[in-house]
Amino acid sequence: MIAVFESAANKQKIYGGENMSLIVQKFGGSSVANAERVFNVARIVTDTYKKGNKVVVVVSAQGDTTDDLIDKANEINPNASKREKDMLLAAGEQISISLLAMAIEKLGYPVVSLLGWQAGFQTSSAYTSARIKRVKTDRIEKELDKNNIVVVAGFQGVNRYEDVTTLGRGGSDTSAVAIAAAMHADLCQIYTDVEGVYTADPRKVSNAAKLKTISYDEMLELATLGAQVLNNRSVEMAKKYNIELEVLSSLTNAPGTIVKEATKMEKMLISGVAKDTNVARISVVGVPDVPGLAFKMFSKLSSKGINVDIILQSIGRDGTKDISFTVAKENVKEAAAAMEEYVDAVGGKSVLVDENVAKISIVGAGMESHAGVATKMFEALYDAQINIRMISTSEIKVSVLIDEKNADAAVSAIHSKFFDEN
Ligand code: ADP
Ligand code: ASP
Ligand code: MG
Repeated sequence: MIAVFESAANKQKIYGGENMSLIVQKFGGSSVANAERVFNVARIVTDTYKKGNKVVVVVSAQGDTTDDLIDKANEINPNASKREKDMLLAAGEQISISLLAMAIEKLGYPVVSLLGWQAGFQTSSAYTSARIKRVKTDRIEKELDKNNIVVVAGFQGVNRYEDVTTLGRGGSDTSAVAIAAAMHADLCQIYTDVEGVYTADPRKVSNAAKLKTISYDEMLELATLGAQVLNNRSVEMAKKYNIELEVLSSLTNAPGTIVKEATKMEKMLISGVAKDTNVARISVVGVPDVPGLAFKMFSKLSSKGINVDIILQSIGRDGTKDISFTVAKENVKEAAAAMEEYVDAVGGKSVLVDENVAKISIVGAGMESHAGVATKMFEALYDAQINIRMISTSEIKVSVLIDEKNADAAVSAIHSKFFDEN
């Protein structure tokens, strides 16, 4: 869980002017990918500053820098410790904050860049997937008092051992929301390479529509189920601290999408379709059909910190049954090994692993009160002759597991069923 943030007690005193607001602006990797883009961001930031606002900017590493750093690490040592991986990965954001600050200097505005630890990001000690515990905003406040634009490295912090940590892929969104929460910012803008949150990935589904607003709960599901546009932890934090987010493009002036608490009027039947290919299915075949089996099996996984997602159990036959479940791809080896051991111990038959699967989901607050939403999704898949391997549902989502090769076709088929046929 996200720990309580210190409230900026003196915020009223510092930012309480009639027209002065505190604005947090976050720019993703593609928004700062090259010199021209860096200057483009510098202009957006300084335009906001010129209007009399206090501005804190959070940036990610340029373009594919983080991926390139991961490749470099693997070249040297694929089994490197997570501590050293974080030391390397944090370097990406150090490059982008300094370059952006240089561009802002060149435009003639006062600016200072800060690494995560300088900006007060204190995290848990879990290297490569650290959680923000607290943002001690004193330094940021001091710099804002000096009328500086403050440029902060996203995705990173420091743990109690005074080591650099990173927050997991896509973590800069969370850095921005954390600052907005800790400082009670008036606005938190997430600038990216698309114009907002769409009904499906606009790069994959050409007629995906931009949403004007989306509720925290729906956005949280979409983000968790694979819509990369916002990191799910950032949405969780925005909901917890009631921070309204605006997702918009750094490259056009179009209005973006507002992520906020739901109002009844706005409930759409479906707000989006998401795809997640970072999943694998494990089937445990022919285990004894006795009480306590699922408990013992899944405790083997939870004790290793492995999250299980969709679960399917077959009807028992001849005293045995099969249990299938999905895990994230990075956990598949460890999970399968634990299941092999378990199957040996209980006299089961075998463990099957399939990494060529994808999870396709629909999300919408409206499905709580409308029957037949899942049926419509299944019909779309039937029309496209795509076989469903597993299904799971909750109040506001339906997910299916299918063959990975059909993933994009499935998203398109489901998207047109819900959005083209009305
Ligand atoms: P950034 O580098 O700005 O953090 P990301 O690459 O993390 O940007 O996220 C933006 C990308 O998310 C878009 O380019 C788009 O392809 C993808 N995306 C996936 N699903 C959606 C969706 N429903 N709405 C908007 N973008 C989406
Ligand atoms: N640079 C980091 C990543 O690529 C963090 C981010 O982009 O939000 O995952
Ligand atoms: Mg991102």
